[in-house]
Formats: sequence, structure tokens, C-alpha cells
Amino acid sequence: MAQYPYKTREGGATVTVFVPYDCNNHCPFCINKEEYGDMTGFSLEKICESIKVMDEITPYCDFVFTGGEPMANLESLQKMMDCIPTTHRLFINTTFPVQNEYSADDMIAFCERNKDKITCINISRHMKKYVEESPDEVIARIPTRKRVNCVLYKNYPKDKIFEYADRFVKWNIPIQFRYDYTETTPENLYEQENDTILQDLKSHFTYMGLDGCRMRNGFHFAYKGLHLTYHKTLPYSTIIEEGDDGVTYAILYDILIKQNGDIHSDWTGVLMDVDAYRHVVFEPNDNVLLDGTNEF
Ligand code: SF4
Repeated sequence: MAQYPYKTREGGATVTVFVPYDCNNHCPFCINKEEYGDMTGFSLEKICESIKVMDEITPYCDFVFTGGEPMANLESLQKMMDCIPTTHRLFINTTFPVQNEYSADDMIAFCERNKDKITCINISRHMKKYVEESPDEVIARIPTRKRVNCVLYKNYPKDKIFEYADRFVKWNIPIQFRYDYTETTPENLYEQENDTILQDLKSHFTYMGLDGCRMRNGFHFAYKGLHLTYHKTLPYSTIIEEGDDGVTYAILYDILIKQNGDIHSDWTGVLMDVDAYRHVVFEPNDNVLLDGTNEF
């Protein structure tokens, strides 16, 4: 039984699916890896059932596949993606791995076959390398929309930021820089003066604007015709707030389908009351343009 009735934005909260198979990497900052240590109870079938439940409740929500490594088992990924009608936007978070099972051409062919389903492929490319990366020429060949994600930790090599950006200018692949979300708080989410990463990006690139909501935001930059974003988000995805109607709601931003098919209402291990979510109250999308522009 949910403690508070649920509220979410029009269309529904984003549903993030944790694939039931691992990556072969050991990135030092990984917070998901531990769950892949013991695969007991992982179930492709249960995940597919939960995807169908979420599609039934919110037929226009966004789905995101993450892991683990979604592209480490293309047959299973295909099965899960086939449970998602084209009313949804669909994103894949991947390293686009170098792996024995599939060649780069196999992975590109997978993207080609599914290009009508896939909204965007988000490829992790950090400034320090933790995994064997497929060459940039390969990711440039991905036939869907794509973006690279780069987490900027405190000790990221600031002197290499132009070099890093130029690497993707060459292929016209937009970059999303990310703040370490385990450090984000409601107080520092919109803090600008003391955000050294933001100040560093402002000193290198042309600041264009800011959009955001209670939970996350994006500072937008232009550089040699490329769109760069600096993204900050809170480390949880539920906000408890009293509505104008005097009712206290749990406002959900992200819903998770775990490796065993369990549905969680937050990143913090909270099981979702699925029946309560069937009665979710919708509010207008609160992500708004706060400054300048985010389209250029
Ligand atoms: S590739 Fe992703 S899931 Fe795998 S260890 Fe690195 S961060 Fe974790």
C-alpha cells in the first residue's frame, strides 16, 4: 500500500529497465554492478510482463534500457523492445561494447533493424577510459539519433575538455556532461556560483540557456556547431509534496523495472504499489525553459 497517492507528469514517469544480463566491466564508480554479482531471480519473462503492465497504465511514457549492458545480449534486448509499442519513446544506455559475441557490424545492424523504435542511443564515453571502447568511427555509424554521456568527476582532466569536445565535433555527436548525481542535493541543483564544473564549462563553451524542473536540469552550450548539455539530477526520483487540493502526493519521475521484473517507484529500493499507480494523478510536465534557449 503506497503511503501517499501517486502523481506524475502527463504521459507518465519514465520507466527504466535493468536488463537481466551483465556487462563485463568494472568501472570504479558503478552503482549497478553489485546487483549483477548474483543473477539469481533474473528473468527476461518477468521483465517483459512488467513492461506490458507499464505500457498498459501509461501508453505514452518513455522507456530506457540500462544495465549491465543492454547490447551484451541482442536477442534478449530485441524481445524486451518488442514488448514496447511505438507510442513510447525508447532510449538505450550503452557503452556500445567491444565484445566477443557480437561484432560492431552486428550491433549497427541491430540498430538499423530497430531504427523506427529507437529514439536515441546514449553512449557512455568518459574522459578517463574505464572500458574498452569501440572506435568513434563505429559509433558515428549508428543509424539512429545518438549522444555521448560523460560524467565529470571532481578530478576530471580540465585541460582536456576541448580535446574531448573536438573528438565528437568531428562526428557531430552531441555531448551530455553529467554531474555526479550522488552529490546532487535540492540545495545545489540550481546553484551556479559554487558549481566549479558549470563555471569551467562556461569558460570553455558558449552558454545558451537552462531548462529544468524540481528533479533535474540541463545547462545548454554551443561549441563549433555542436550542442553540449550539462545535466544535473537528484539521486532519488520521488518528491513528496502537498497539492493545491490539500492532498499530499508522492510525485514520481522515474519508475524502475529491476532484473527480476520487480517494479520500483524510486532508485532507492522502494517497491511500487502498481495498483495505486493505476490511479495516478497527472500534472503538467514541469520541465520548463528557465533561461535563454535549449534549441539551436
Ligand atoms: S559499463 Fe556500466 S554497468 Fe558496467 S561496470 Fe561500467 S558503469 Fe557499471
